[in-house]
Amino acid sequence: MIECVRRIQFAAGHRVLNHESRCKYPHGHNYVVYFHARAKAGQDHLDSIGRVIDFGVLKQRLGEWIDVHWDHGFLFWERDAEIRRRALASERWIAVPFNPTAENIARYLLEEVAPRQLIGTGVEIWKVRVEETENCSATATLEGRNAVDTTGRTEAHEEGELAEATADVGARS
Ligand SMILES: [Zn+2]
Repeated sequence: MIECVRRIQFAAGHRVLNHESRCKYPHGHNYVVYFHARAKAGQDHLDSIGRVIDFGVLKQRLGEWIDVHWDHGFLFWERDAEIRRRALASERWIAVPFNPTAENIARYLLEEVAPRQLIGTGVEIWKVRVEETENCSATATLEGRNAVDTTGRTEAHEEGELAEATADVGARS
């Protein structure tokens, strides 16, 4: 197989709901994302001048999506009722449909963002690595993507949090 890899950086705040220690507090990272691209036509396919895809296209389609939607924002799980109560419409509070761990960020970029952003290019992102720090990263791949369900880590709390979030929405309306 031949692949090309585009590195994208962004800064964002988050907190991990139900984390056992410090990651439950709002804080931020200079995230580094590695998008691994390969041709859909075949894992060794290159274009007429010898590329998987131009690096600039990956920057434009994936980097700009992150710039527009996440960079310098605060990512919080839409079920996080406490953050939702504090979030101000005038600031960049971004509700996401997952607890914003590095694992879930990687999987969301792989499965939701990349396929939409790369429509018509003939390539797919087959692997996404998200670094929170030089020492801590998570990787999601298309291969065996249903084998491990990392959302299971929060499953025990989901019902209570959902009920709380629902109650909060009800109180506002
Ligand atoms: Zn963190």
